[in-house]
Amino acid sequence: MASPKYLTGDKAAIEAFIDQFDTFLFDCDGVLWSGDHVFEGVPETIGLLRARGKRTVFVTNNSTKSRDEYVKKLTALGIPSDVDDVFGSAYSSAVYISRILQLPADKRKVFVIGEAGVEKELASEGVAVVGGTDERFRRDITPADFAGIADGSLLDPEVGVVLCGLDFHINYLKLAYGLHYLKRGAVFLATNTDSTLPLHHDLFLGAGSVMVPLANASGQKPLELGKPSQAMMDAIEGKFHMDRSRTCMIGDRLNTDIKFGVDGKLGGTLHVETGVDKKDAWQKPDAIAVPSFYVDKLSDLRHEA
Ligand code: PLP
Ligand code: CA
Repeated sequence: MASPKYLTGDKAAIEAFIDQFDTFLFDCDGVLWSGDHVFEGVPETIGLLRARGKRTVFVTNNSTKSRDEYVKKLTALGIPSDVDDVFGSAYSSAVYISRILQLPADKRKVFVIGEAGVEKELASEGVAVVGGTDERFRRDITPADFAGIADGSLLDPEVGVVLCGLDFHINYLKLAYGLHYLKRGAVFLATNTDSTLPLHHDLFLGAGSVMVPLANASGQKPLELGKPSQAMMDAIEGKFHMDRSRTCMIGDRLNTDIKFGVDGKLGGTLHVETGVDKKDAWQKPDAIAVPSFYVDKLSDLRHEA
């Protein structure tokens, strides 16, 4: 396996790298920013790529926010964008449910374990939601709930999908509903399967950890729709018609971003050191994916600075 090329400080290599691609897919957290702190030089780097005619697409696994919210965040942090520049796992899930899954007409509702971002994207695709941020599901389970879930009287017969994303209000009641919809044949989907979520320079539980109880109790594995799922790559290609051989995925995480680009047979993948994984992760003999390029930080691509 060819080893990744280190670009930091190598002007000629950076020029060749930029010339090689027309489209850059950017992971967000860990590449552009950490939480609400944009990394120094990132807006200028994106500006430079755009000035050279490159298309910049922001591809995030964060399903708690909609594309609109990402546009606001990008723009506020100095990266002016519109909704077509953003592709999130909530949107990817909504597109998959509304355009690819062939659900019977009486099974089109989605039981959501997740936050408002998922609901907004499902609504934008005309998909009806049960659960989600509905306050009636944000409480302790009662004996009447157990009985009504078991005999089906509390279940909505039109639910045909259980979609699991990161839910900061996860509780036994929602998991019990989710399990019983799955037992009645609902399709099991996950917005993304990131095991962890970087916050305050530490790791907390990500969507992939929230969905584990349902997978465990049902004995089913969800179809995942965020990076590294190729369902997401296919949806991005369907929208942007990019030439994969002239597209580069830039990310901080090997098992989501870099694997996403490698599995999608993109022309290149670039690993940055500002997020979750450091270079020792791809230097291991059993690394899940190895990037084709690496830099210390994204703004190293702006060698004119
Ligand atoms: N999921 C959630 C809920 C997040 O908040 C984040 C990062 O902020 C992620 C996933 C990972 O996002 P990204 O794919 O942009 O690194
Ligand atoms: Ca990331």
